[in-house]
Amino acid sequence: MSLNPPTDSRSNPDSRPVYTLEDLRSWDKAGVWLAVVGYPVKHSISPAMHNAALQVIMQRFPEYATWRYTRFEIPHEAFAEALPLFREKGFYGLNLTLPHKIQVLDLIQDIDPEAVSMGAVNTLVLTDRGYRGFNTDGWGLRTGIYTDLGQRLADSDIVLLGAGGAARAAAFQCLKDGCRSLWIGNRSQGRLDSLLQAIGNDERVRSFLFKSPPEDLPEKALIIQATSSGLKPEDSLPLDLNSFSNEAALYDMIYNPRVTRLMKIGMQRGMRVANGLSMLIQQGARSLEIWTQVPVTVTAMEAAARAELNMGG
Ligand code: NDP
Repeated sequence: MSLNPPTDSRSNPDSRPVYTLEDLRSWDKAGVWLAVVGYPVKHSISPAMHNAALQVIMQRFPEYATWRYTRFEIPHEAFAEALPLFREKGFYGLNLTLPHKIQVLDLIQDIDPEAVSMGAVNTLVLTDRGYRGFNTDGWGLRTGIYTDLGQRLADSDIVLLGAGGAARAAAFQCLKDGCRSLWIGNRSQGRLDSLLQAIGNDERVRSFLFKSPPEDLPEKALIIQATSSGLKPEDSLPLDLNSFSNEAALYDMIYNPRVTRLMKIGMQRGMRVANGLSMLIQQGARSLEIWTQVPVTVTAMEAAARAELNMGG
């Protein structure tokens, strides 16, 4: 795509373009730039969310008037070349999404210890020594669950479904916040074992495979759904919810579709249920706070996210 892409009046013009490595090589746009970098990235709602929040910040703090957030579609094999270019071109902050969150650990030296534990980085901020990496997914999850379900991770019995990148951040946040027990289930043994190994010895943790769930799962659990099963209507359910009472709660990290099959069943059983939009918004707000060092209220981000997803108010 050219450096003068067409704009769309629906939202901030900086939110629409999808730039490439070629665009980055010749980047000479004025202002302070932030971006989400991933592959694919054209469906990301982060540019709309962040530009909406920046508009609000600028009204109170004029020094942010030239800040903009855009997106770059960079494939896995080009990321190692792109990262020094982002630095050279002065990109102040980057959000990393699939498939770059793990690879970046080998490409930067300065990583927040929490992100090291989570084994993934989703936020980079430019310092005079290069990029420093953070992970705001755990924060987003904890804050999203509290906002939507009124439940803290601390002292909760948690059943975590999945062992991929998102589940890993969730597991570390649950343990860090002081959950009472953490049951981790996954479809395949390999990834489950890697996650258990990364966690190390913790007597609160138990594990299982979806094909043989234990009979003693806590009936009032906070269930955190962190698999990609549910993105399509025909996807199978990772776990039967029959053994849970209506005092259990379900947080499904998927936000598009707005209601997954698992969420529908949870609602029918009378559980408190929420999708992952609040996590997405909160992790974004936390990234923006890291970059701007000013408190970010999520109202504008949420309105922009809902408009992008056509979810209404
Ligand atoms: P990964 O690819 O790292 O992990 C995918 C996980 O889903 C693995 O545990 C995998 O199991 C499991 N899985 C995939 N397909 C199935 C299936 N058909 N049945 C059962 N389990 C399955 O992805 P991420 O961890 O990055 O993302 C997981 C989900 O979380 C995605 O839907 C993503 O959109 C969402 N997410 C939401 C965020 C938010 O802000 N709301 C942030 C990050 C992610 P196995 O190991 O057996 O392959």
